[in-house]
Parts: sequence; C-alpha cells; structure tokens
Amino acid sequence: MDFRLTEEQIMIRDTIRRIATEKFAPLAAEIDAQERFPLENFNILAENGLLGVSIPEEYGGSGAGQLANCLVLEETAKACGSTSTILTNQGLASEPFLISASEEMKKNYLYRMASGQCQGAMAITEANAGSDVAGMNTTARKVDGGYLLNGSKIFITNVGISPFVVVVCYTDKSKGNKGMSLIVVEKEDKGFIVGPPEHKMGLRGSDTRSLTFEDCFVPENRLLGVEGGGFKTLMNTFNFSRPNIAAQALGFAQGALDVAVAYAKERVQFGQTLSSFQGMQWMLAEMALAVETARSITYRAASLIDNEPGSPEIPRLCSMAKWYASDVAMKVTTDAVQILGGYGYTREYPVERMMRDAKITQIYEGTNQVQRIIIAGQMLK
Ligand SMILES: Cc1cc2nc3c(=O)[nH]c(=O)nc-3n(C[C@H](O)[C@H](O)[C@H](O)COP(=O)(O)OP(=O)(O)OC[C@H]3O[C@@H](n4cnc5c(N)ncnc54)[C@H](O)[C@@H]3O)c2cc1C
Repeated sequence: MDFRLTEEQIMIRDTIRRIATEKFAPLAAEIDAQERFPLENFNILAENGLLGVSIPEEYGGSGAGQLANCLVLEETAKACGSTSTILTNQGLASEPFLISASEEMKKNYLYRMASGQCQGAMAITEANAGSDVAGMNTTARKVDGGYLLNGSKIFITNVGISPFVVVVCYTDKSKGNKGMSLIVVEKEDKGFIVGPPEHKMGLRGSDTRSLTFEDCFVPENRLLGVEGGGFKTLMNTFNFSRPNIAAQALGFAQGALDVAVAYAKERVQFGQTLSSFQGMQWMLAEMALAVETARSITYRAASLIDNEPGSPEIPRLCSMAKWYASDVAMKVTTDAVQILGGYGYTREYPVERMMRDAKITQIYEGTNQVQRIIIAGQMLK
C-alpha cells in the first residue's frame, strides 16, 4: 500500500492551502457573524478549478479524483467551514449525475457545476423523513409530457443559490424504495417555492432552506436515471460523498489543533507556558493522534474510490470514515476550546466557531447512528 500523495495531489493541496490561508481564513469570522453565503470564496474556488476536482474532464472537471477532492475540502474546512460546505454540497449534488444521468444531462448540469457557473443542491430530507428516507411523502405523478410534483423538503443546503435541485420523490409509492425517483427541478419551474434561510448553530454562511412543490410541472427529460432507480442512486451517492464529510470534519479538527498548539506555546500561567504542563501536553498529543487516525481512514476511503470504484468495501469504509472523523472533529474542537480557556469560548479565537461547525458533521449525510446501522448491516448480512 502506498501512503504517499502523488505530485498532482501535493500540488492541489499546496494550492488550496495557500488560497485558504490567504483568502478564506481572514473572512471566516465575518461570514459566520453575518450569516452570509461566501460568494467571493465560491468564485475563488471556481477560478482555480477547485469545484470539479473529482468530476471527470469530459464534464468540465479536472478528474483528479476523490482523494484530491478530500485534500481540497480538508484545507478549506481548516480555514472556513461555511466555504467548505460549498464543496461538500458540490459532491452531494454532482454524484447522482455521475452515477445515473444521461450524457445530455451530464454535459449540462455537471459541466455547469464543475466550471463554477453554479452550485447544485440535493433535496432528500422532509419534516417527517430524515434518517428514514423511505418515509418521505413528496410525489411526482406522471402527466402528459412530464411529472407533477407535490410535497415539501427541509434543511436543503445552498438551494437559495443554486439554479436547480435534484429532488428525491416517489413516482410510485406502492413499490416502496423501488418506487423512488430523482427529478431535477429548476428555479423557474412554476409551483416551486423556496423558503427563507434557517438560522443555525454553525456553518452559518451556508444557505439552508425548505422547499415546497405545489403541482410543480417538470418535463420528462428531467428525470435523472430511470423511474424507480432513485433510492439505489441515492445510496451510491452517499457512498461516494461521505468521505467529503469526513474530510470536512478532519479540516475542523486539524484547524482547531493548530490553534490550540500555538496558544499553548504562548499562554503563560503559574510563570510557565501552558505547553510546559504535562496535562496540556497529553491532551494535545491525544488530539494529534485522533486527527492522524481520522486522516488515515478518510484518505483510505477516498483512495479506495479512486483505485477500486467497484469495491464492495466502499460503503463500509466510507461510513466508518464519516462517523470516525466527525466524532474526532467534535472531540478535538471541544478540547481546543478547553485549552484556550475563557478566550476559547469567545469569538476572539476561531475554535468556538470550529466547534459549532463540527457538530453538523455528526448529523448530515446520515447521522452517526445511521452509519453504525450501515456498518453492522454489512457485517451481519
Ligand atoms: C445544516 C444542515 C444541512 C443539511 N443539508 C441537507 C441537504 O442539502 N439535503 C438534504 O436532503 N438534507 C440535508 N440536511 C438534513 C440532514 O441530512 C438530516 O437532518 C439528517 O439526515 C437527520 O435527519 P433528521 O434531522 O430528521 O433526524 P432524525 O432522523 O429524526 O434523527 C433524530 C435522532 O434519532 C437518531 N435515530 C434515527 N433513527 C435511528 C435508528 N434507527 N436507530 C438509532 N438512532 C436513530 C438519529 O441518529 C438522531 O440522533 C441538512 C441538515 C442540516 C442541519
């Protein structure tokens, strides 16, 4: 097994590290406080070709792969959580097209996302259907020339910015999972209503809204994949997108650890720096171990996708990476606040923001309880 990054991956990591340090980090506190979408950072990612790192070249991306994409995510999350959500959301919205869309759809939607013309959005969650995706109620009824959508979705990321959203819905509820389909709804479609932004604990610069479909007509060429194939595509989408959440979590953890190390070397109490106390040293060492192990499992999951995309190990490893790295992010960011004491609890330092941002990584794209169910299910079948 080769644990080294390739020259291309190192080049991508160093480029985004420089951009994130120089451009994203200085704005992160302001974006969080103002709860505004970081459009300037979206444009920087687009100009540098970083929105389509894992999208193949023929669809406008750079085709550098999932591990390279994780490196971009990790470095971005280290600097600005809200900006990193542009990238996690890009993964979630582009995968269904890569997995199941027609060539025509791929050339349209993937190209626009990869080239930075727009963000995409993916609408799965409903008020009464979160972990239990199949409990959803949104339906698409076949009519002449297309579908009529009815229902509503909640907590949809960046849908206020995106010109389209991939909607998971039932085309035939009597068939259960096998009656689920994916339909692309565009902003201009009549009967498509986007709600006001939610106010959140963290990732405050990401846009989170509800959606309503009221007899919303969508032409039949916007069916993504085949009727009834939606659930399968969705599950495969998560397999490929979960390492992105792991990488985002890893970035939060590494970012908080860096701040804690610097602070411990500066802060003097009892006539000594905090870093001279063994209690602090052990805490920092444990944080470093957790970050490094989270990095190992995240990179391993991503490189498995790059090197063996058909491997049956992918769902299990990607669930493990997402679960483990997000728990590490929560622990390490919380410990970083502890190391900074009262200052850590204030907005003078970024660790409280990183702690707030980290929490969602344990919840979205399948809660960590759901990851346990997936892993156990694979083991025990
Ligand atoms: C900021 C943000 C962004 C989001 N972005 C998107 C998006 O872009 N698109 C989208 O579709 N959704 C999005 N979501 C929704 C997110 O994916 C869901 O919140 C998540 O899947 C959990 O669903 P829920 O909130 O309904 O919780 P529930 O499913 O109600 O779960 C509540 C609790 O019960 C636990 N639980 C549930 N079932 C079980 C079980 N069988 N065994 C043990 N424990 C269980 C869960 O782990 C959790 O702890 C977003 C949410 C947020 C907050």
